Amino acid sequence: MLGAPAAGGKIRLETANGRFFVDCADEDCPRVEDVLSRLMGISGWAKTGRHEKTVEAVLRACVEEGQKLFSRGVTTFKIEARRTDKSFPLDSYGLRSEGGRAILDAVPGLKVDVRNPGGLIKIEIREKAYVYSNAQKGLGGLPVGTAGRGLLLLSGGIDSPVAGFLMASRGMGIDAVHFHAYPYSSLEARQKAVRLAEILGAYCMGIRLHIIGFTKIQLRIKERAPLPWTTILLRMAMMECAEKLALLIKDKCLITGESLSQVASQTIENLTCTQSRIRLPVLRPLIGADKEAIIRKAETIGAYETSILPYEDCCTLFSPPHPVLRGDPREASALYEELEPEVLIEEALRDCETLKCGFC
Ligand code: ATP
Ligand code: MG
Repeated sequence: MLGAPAAGGKIRLETANGRFFVDCADEDCPRVEDVLSRLMGISGWAKTGRHEKTVEAVLRACVEEGQKLFSRGVTTFKIEARRTDKSFPLDSYGLRSEGGRAILDAVPGLKVDVRNPGGLIKIEIREKAYVYSNAQKGLGGLPVGTAGRGLLLLSGGIDSPVAGFLMASRGMGIDAVHFHAYPYSSLEARQKAVRLAEILGAYCMGIRLHIIGFTKIQLRIKERAPLPWTTILLRMAMMECAEKLALLIKDKCLITGESLSQVASQTIENLTCTQSRIRLPVLRPLIGADKEAIIRKAETIGAYETSILPYEDCCTLFSPPHPVLRGDPREASALYEELEPEVLIEEALRDCETLKCGFC
């Protein structure tokens, strides 16, 4: 909830009886509302004044809310009232009927419609009186950070930002890692991942994005591996590198945007190969989601437009025309060992660049 203008342009957060109050000046409200609209774990919020607990003040505030509704073209309203302070002279029925009467008298264009109101005015009598008509639905879910931290493998595509969003909405704090193959992948592709981390970070109280150069590893794969296996082996190397990073930064799991059978590397057999050499759990929140639903979610969170920018990601550079569809994990492991990737992975990790994205 947004309180009355705060003195000195400061934004203050208070809690009282299970509610948070953000007390800010009117000019800061759009910024505060923008943050609230992306905050996991709140069911909703409203901009309200904080009024004296007198019948006159409450009725005056009801009339103001009625006028606001009418000026926005609303012609019908309903009042909901809650009185937790039982010493207030009007009970909730009295608040509804007196409030309604005051509005009908002062705003002749408005009518009551309890079944299908154009606007809902809420009155709450608590430690103070609150009257508001603009309640907004929040994102729900659980507050970010209450369910440990996970490391999101963030490509420049549509799926991985959505996967990160879903885990954040279950309370998981998100770190991210992006692998690039500069100069084979462009700087624009890297920038796209940064932008996606910023968009996602706005929902997760910020994200630390770790950017890791994978060019040498990709060249090693190209040089030593049979062409149909290159994508699976690249994914295995990404997983191993991500796991090492996760252990360093104390994340409890890896998160990917993989979805069953979306592409050749995501058959159940190939997903098994991909994770066969690591021990941390790999969370795949999109595993059973179809692409249409993922795209809709990407649009809702504001990532889609960025995700579809046409910059080649490192995975598309060496993708084989006829990839292995049902890899055997033992064969995958043997081929992986022939790459001798350890030193290259250590080197890539040492050169990792870390950016803070989306902190507000
Ligand atoms: P997305 O799945 O995000 O739309 P994509 O379709 O290009 O991107 P896939 O080929 O489906 O990527 O890759 C599956 C998953 O592997 C991604 O969701 C992501 O978690 C991880 N991944 C792929 N490429 C990268 C990369 N360059 N850096 C980090 N993670 C990656
Ligand atoms: Mg994908």
